[in-house]
Amino acid sequence: MFCTQCGASNADNATVCVQCGRNLQPAPLAARPAAMTSAVYVPNYLVFAILTTVLCCLPAGIPAIVYAAQVNGKLQAGDIAGAQAASKNAKMWCWIALGAGLAVGILYGLLIGAGVMSRMHR
Ligand SMILES: [Zn+2]
Repeated sequence: MFCTQCGASNADNATVCVQCGRNLQPAPLAARPAAMTSAVYVPNYLVFAILTTVLCCLPAGIPAIVYAAQVNGKLQAGDIAGAQAASKNAKMWCWIALGAGLAVGILYGLLIGAGVMSRMHR
């Protein structure tokens, strides 16, 4: 088994971790599968990814959705490190999409503003 605190590999019948000394015996009342999935919360940013894709920037939103969709699959497969990496990438692409959407919006606003101004001065 692996230590839940430091991740060190221990014998299956070990009572304490050889590396950090944590008690390895499972808590008697905790249901193990539920405890394992709820112990690590990895946000998948799927709603954020979809919103930024629809509202802001489609090209940057697509990788955000792809990474967001990988988070739950990896979590279910027990790949917590992979899920966290996908979650991080999803968040990064969400912000890129949001930033790109805002930049385009501001640029568009400036162009319209400039157009209005030049018409006023004509
Ligand atoms: Zn340990």
